[in-house]
Amino acid sequence: MVQAAILFVALAATPGADANIAVRVDTEFARDVLAEVCSNQGIDDAAIRRSAVVNTMVDHFAQFRDDFTMDAYVEARRLAAECKSASKDIFRFAQVIEERESLAREIKTIHNSQAGYSSAIAGMLSDYTPAGVKFSGAATLVIGSPSCGGWSKAADFYVDVPCVKSDEAGLQYLIAHETYHAIQNLFMPETPQSPSLAVVLNGIIREGSAMVVADHSTIEKPGAYSEHSLRIARTNKRRMKANFELLDVSAFYLAGNDRSDAARVIDTIGLSGFYDSPFYSVGAAMTRSIDSHLGREALLCLMQAPAQEFFAAYASLPESEQAFRLGPHTLAGVQGLRSDASRTQGHACLSGGNPDQVATE
Ligand SMILES: [Zn+2]
Repeated sequence: MVQAAILFVALAATPGADANIAVRVDTEFARDVLAEVCSNQGIDDAAIRRSAVVNTMVDHFAQFRDDFTMDAYVEARRLAAECKSASKDIFRFAQVIEERESLAREIKTIHNSQAGYSSAIAGMLSDYTPAGVKFSGAATLVIGSPSCGGWSKAADFYVDVPCVKSDEAGLQYLIAHETYHAIQNLFMPETPQSPSLAVVLNGIIREGSAMVVADHSTIEKPGAYSEHSLRIARTNKRRMKANFELLDVSAFYLAGNDRSDAARVIDTIGLSGFYDSPFYSVGAAMTRSIDSHLGREALLCLMQAPAQEFFAAYASLPESEQAFRLGPHTLAGVQGLRSDASRTQGHACLSGGNPDQVATE
């Protein structure tokens, strides 16, 4: 039965065949900015201030620093048009000016292969999206932004191209990862506000599954950005046992901790990139184990349940199918979060298989 379900999902999820997922790759903004840089022509001040991309960027970054203002941005564009950058180059136009020719070539290549690029991304995403979920979003390529992190607004994602330069596959995977977070919002439960362990478990599944969706190790010729991601992945692979132990230490810290910022403390250590995101790798390893042992349908079903059910399902796998076992504090925390019914009868996602497999310890 599980086999038949896997076959069905595999057919329904043939890359490019699922019209339910659409990701438009928008190169227009990047092309406009590059056409202006070093043109020695006056800029259209009013058009820049009206631009939806510019407004989302300024709104997003103004949350973090008060010098990321519309006036500062317009001034940066004016200087860039004269081939100059501000002494405090907060929108990073110095690099854009220096690399404008290679950036223009790269944007042109992506523009010319836009349809293929979009459908490759949609194919990656539909493999990990439950049947019936419809998604339409855009990935806007940005030139001249304050940070490499990119930003999201609703279904749309904005990515800084100079940060991913000359790595088209890396850019594709980055867009797929970030867009998958927007799709997760359509089928996964809302991130809980409390208790803090539930918040952290939810984050681990979201990031871990997004890592599996956009797995850089499958890129044939990785560029600089992908190499950076691969280096971090290799480090975490080496540390995997310690990463699972770190999760257990975190579960111990979070148990009964009434500090209001307890989840944020663990998020910074495990999920922020500050320490190579060790819990991304834990989530990815768990996702792979569940996917290969219980099947894609069960995986997607468990992702729609509260995070503790995903962890309990992982703990119920034969030990040989687990990357590493969850520690005692993690298991106790997971069981404490489960409902009586799922704890005693097993979660409905696994009822097609063997409910006795659900961990009850
Ligand atoms: Zn992510």
